[in-house]
Formats: sequence, structure tokens, C-alpha cells
Amino acid sequence: MKQNSPQQTAEVMVVDSPTMSPAVCQQLVSKISRETEDAFYLFDVDDVILKYNTWLEKLPRVMPFYAVKCNNHPILLQVLKALGAGFDCASKAEIQTMTEMGVPPEQIIFANPCKPASHLRYAVARDVQLMTFDNETELSKVQTLAPNARLVLRIRVDAEDAQCPLGIKFGAVPSAAPRLLKLAAAQGLNVVGVSFHVGSGCREFAVYERAIRAARLVFDQAAEVGYTLSLLDLGGGFAGERGASLDEAAGYINSALDECFPESQGVTVIAEPGRYMAASAFTLATQVTSVRRAADSVDYYVNDGVYGAFNCILYDHLVCVPRPLEEAPAEGIPATVWGPTCDSMDRICEGCLLPPLEPQSWLVWENMGAYTLSAAGTFNGFPRATVYPVITAKLSEAVRNAVWPLTPMPEPAIQITPLPVEQCVAEN
Ligand code: PLP
Repeated sequence: MKQNSPQQTAEVMVVDSPTMSPAVCQQLVSKISRETEDAFYLFDVDDVILKYNTWLEKLPRVMPFYAVKCNNHPILLQVLKALGAGFDCASKAEIQTMTEMGVPPEQIIFANPCKPASHLRYAVARDVQLMTFDNETELSKVQTLAPNARLVLRIRVDAEDAQCPLGIKFGAVPSAAPRLLKLAAAQGLNVVGVSFHVGSGCREFAVYERAIRAARLVFDQAAEVGYTLSLLDLGGGFAGERGASLDEAAGYINSALDECFPESQGVTVIAEPGRYMAASAFTLATQVTSVRRAADSVDYYVNDGVYGAFNCILYDHLVCVPRPLEEAPAEGIPATVWGPTCDSMDRICEGCLLPPLEPQSWLVWENMGAYTLSAAGTFNGFPRATVYPVITAKLSEAVRNAVWPLTPMPEPAIQITPLPVEQCVAEN
């Protein structure tokens, strides 16, 4: 996936509201939309902190190594670093970003089973030793360029239903594991663990149980070759949209870990969540630039599209549904929403019911934090949406020094009328 340079980011806003409820987000989007005509993201920093804490509560044995590819916004990365996360990097550029941010190399896994040689050399230069592999050519490359690597064998275990299946590209079939382990041993390489990725946006949670059992078998096969493995990496796949729960996946994971890797064995368990941490924290707002009406349908043209934030429609198979920023009393009519470029591929959604809108109306798109801005381009000269990070005063106090050591945190600048507490709780 191509790497973007840091996004254009507005100053961090600190709001006085006790919680960052959807209603507060709505007020903020409303406020920003009066100050700009460009598409923008509202980045709810509180949401990331909440997600991280929920992760630790539901999966207490699993240390998250955030998948940087999912969303590489610097403040998101800094917040996760401050919270103590590790990081899954897929390339030289991602390793560079994280090590320059001060993340210790042992908190990074180079989780790309097929690494370009120059990226591998860079990882070694930065002392990033933990890395995945799933084939024999990678073993030869590692033996030459990174003989001290701590290798993690990625096996293939696929969910029956996932938004983005990954098994067709990566992961050794478990039956190939004994051969790869013997090869690694013959080359004097240090294999330390097993990983898998069940598919991104996994919708079949029992797969985690199957995958952990499959990993257990590989641990046992490795022992026969002389390896004492000490690391299990559960990959990603965890849902991230607002309201999605970790409970079901956590249920399967926690019980399978107890069965196959009891704590007494001392195996370190990590995972590489991407969308779980990032999806719900970003809300995109786009402005209608033009309208074409027909008898029974309407086309709306907005200022971000599939070459920008909505690349997630092509690459992440996301179905995006807008809502108008202003509540409209009128009935919805089937609308097609188009992006701003001259390409007819640049279609965001079709047949969505929207009230009559005029140019300069705003559409709001929730759950736009995963695989959106990290892969967005500027085709036809349309800029990437600006990011407006926002945090509540209470949490800004807590993370002030840890997260923004270089850029001092502003004092609360935006007054949001606090909602009654009961309403905030209900809306969350
Ligand atoms: N780890 C690896 C190796 C991946 O390829 C990906 C996504 O492609 C992730 C983690 C993150 O997955 P998710 O966003 O489903 O959590």
C-alpha cells in the first residue's frame, strides 16, 4: 500500500464537553463546516483512548501492536504510543516513522512476510528484529541480510466471512509448517513464534479458536525441530465501526488461549489490530458541489471521492452511507453520490435515500478512519481531506505531556455546550 506523507492537520481542538458523544461530534462537524468548504475529517481522539482501554479490558493477555498501514495519522500514532501500544510495520517507511517517533525496536514487528531487500536491511539497521515469513525464499533472504532476526511463521487460517480475505496472498498452509521450520533450523535461523491473519473485517469469530489451535500444533512441531517458541501473534480482523463489540471475538480468543496456551507456559501473545483502533474515530464531512436532477433520481457531486478518502470502497470493500448534516424534513429520494474527479469510476454510492440537497449542503460519513487517508491520493488535483483532531478537556489533561511533548497542547478553545450526562451515556 502506498504511504502518504503526513496529512494536512488543523490544530488540535480541546472541547469542554464531558464526553465525545455522537451529538458533540455533530456539533463540531457543523461548526467546522461553517469555516471551510473543503472535505475534512473530524478525528475523535477520545475514541482511540476508549478503544485501547476496552481492548486491554476484554483481551487482557493480548498486547496490541497497531497496524500502521490502517491509518498513519501522526496524532493517532502518538496517542497509541503514549498508551503503550506496539506497532505492526509493513515497510521501511513505516519503520522509519515509528522509530523516529521514539518507539523502541522491540515494540515493532515487521509483519510483511515478503519484504523487499532494502526494507529488510533498513529494519536491521534500526534493530527491528521481529519479523514474519511464510516461504522459503524469505528464509534465504533473512539468512543473508538479517541472520539475527527473530522470525515468526505466518500460517494461513481463513475466516469463512471477511470484508478483505488475506489468505490468498499470505500465510503458509499449516501442513507446510514442518518443512519451513526444518529449513529454518538447517539455516541456523531463530524462529520465535507463529502468526496468522484471519482476514480483515472478520465476521466469523470462531475462526480465532481454529487459528489458535492451528498455531498450537505448529508450536509442537517446532519443538520437534528444536525450537522453543515464545510468541503468538493473532493478527488483525477486529471490527472497528461505532458500536461494534469485541466481545464475541474475545470470548473465542480468551478461551482458546486458556486451552492451548495457558498463562503458566509464559507465551507472549500479541495482535495487530488496525481498523479496530482507527475506524470509528474518524468522521468525514464532504460538501455537495453540484446537483443534477432527473425525474426519479438525483446525482450529487461532492468534494472527496474514490481517489481520496473513499478509496476504501475499492480497496477495503467498504459500503459507505451518508447522512445529511442538517436534518431534513423532506422524504428521501434515490441518489447517486459522485466524487469530484472526471472519472465515472469515482462513484461513492448509488440508490441511497437522501433528502433534496443544494450545492454547499454537507454530507457526513461515519467510521471513515480505516484504510482511508493512508491510501488517499490527489488525482485530478483534488487535495486530501484535512484532519481536525479533537479531544475532551478531561482526556487532554491525561495525555497532555505524553502525547504532545513537542507541540504544546492548546488550552480548551472550543466551547461545546455540555449535554446532560444521561444523554451522553445513552448516545455512547
Ligand atoms: N496485520 C497485517 C499483516 C495486515 O496485513 C493487516 C491488514 O491488512 C493488519 C494487521 C490489520 O488488519 P485489521 O485492520 O483487520 O485489524
